[in-house]
Amino acid sequence: MALMTVAEALALVLGDASPLRPEAAPLGLAHGRVLADDLAALRTQPPADVSAMDGYAVRAEDVAKAPTHLKVVGEVAAGRPFAGTVGSGQAARIFTGGVMPRGADTVVIQEHTSRAEGLVVVGKPTRKGGNVRHRGLDFAAGAVLLRRGRRLSDRDLALAAAMNHPAVPVHRRPKVAVLATGDELVMPGTVPGSGEIVYSNGFATMALAAREGGDILDLGIAPDRLPETVAAIRRARASGADILVTSGGASVGDHDLVQQALAREGLTLSFWKIAMRPGRPMLHGRLGATHVLGLPGNPVSAYVCAFLFLVPLIRRLVGRTDLDRKPEQAVLGGDLPQNDERADYLRATLAVGPDGSQVATALLSQDSSTLVPLAAAECLLIREPHAPAAKAGSPCSILKLGL
Ligand code: AMP
Ligand code: MG
Repeated sequence: MALMTVAEALALVLGDASPLRPEAAPLGLAHGRVLADDLAALRTQPPADVSAMDGYAVRAEDVAKAPTHLKVVGEVAAGRPFAGTVGSGQAARIFTGGVMPRGADTVVIQEHTSRAEGLVVVGKPTRKGGNVRHRGLDFAAGAVLLRRGRRLSDRDLALAAAMNHPAVPVHRRPKVAVLATGDELVMPGTVPGSGEIVYSNGFATMALAAREGGDILDLGIAPDRLPETVAAIRRARASGADILVTSGGASVGDHDLVQQALAREGLTLSFWKIAMRPGRPMLHGRLGATHVLGLPGNPVSAYVCAFLFLVPLIRRLVGRTDLDRKPEQAVLGGDLPQNDERADYLRATLAVGPDGSQVATALLSQDSSTLVPLAAAECLLIREPHAPAAKAGSPCSILKLGL
């Protein structure tokens, strides 16, 4: 049977997922999250006519000609209105943001005035309504200013605050449980025994998932034994994980118990092999409400699979619509041989060519276990299945890697 393509696999992963239920997030925790509801202004802004400048609130007819003298009858500052009225021949000292006093319709800026003995001397005429911000200039109460589905920018947070929302309805962040498997794995900073290696791939996966808004539950390392693997899977479910990401043990070796353990717990399997390199043995399914991604053990395979499948899955759950990153055009920095039946995601560096184009050059080692080229890579260079041999300078597609 032909292996599933990356696009088919992604369609299965996303087809099975929908945005998580809304919750109220305080503005301080809402940056980058997706609105689950339309947001209407709870007030009008500004709530009254206010001064845009420091100066004097006056009646327009009094300052149509200058110079002129006006009697100063009061003072207004932001948050400190003047209870009186500005009559004909009168002015009130006013500061930026101060509410226009009754009677006044115009502000003469301070720079056009001088003071003398309870009087202000207006040196220049000002047109009617000058330097006044009218009530509702920014928005009116009830106006829907931020729509459901919008990913909140930093500026959106300021707007939501001005609309008088201390918290906003956003889709819940998924809890992402991350479980490594392997008898050979030890934590970084310990002294590995004979045949042991340092657990690495989860650190990339967890950082990637956290950056996308996942709330990470690190389940550590399970040995290659069924009871421990099952116990770790149960921990993930008991904690309410929306996604369980395993790594390793997903292949066909005697010690590859992840699929067996998941099956025992009731996994509905959707696929476990993809026509891609690195990362052929990747598993996807559901354990009740928990989405399961079984990543390959090799660090590069694990990362590329997380990049291609876990990121879009998280984005779907948090309500984003920009699910998978669209490939960008580049040109090849070196010749590439014909590709076989598996889509290839080559680790590559990026440079700018003489004509300004992006030049992607595949790194020398494309082994799925080598982290040095993975860390050095700036993009994944996509080779479609059966792509013909290609010369340096010919067009290609890339996916940029992030921080
Ligand atoms: P597996 O799929 O369990 O057979 O693992 C494939 C290869 O990846 C083996 O060489 C493992 O030692 C290695 N590997 C598995 N899990 C990890 C991990 N979490 N960190 C680093 N290497 C791993
Ligand atoms: Mg293993």
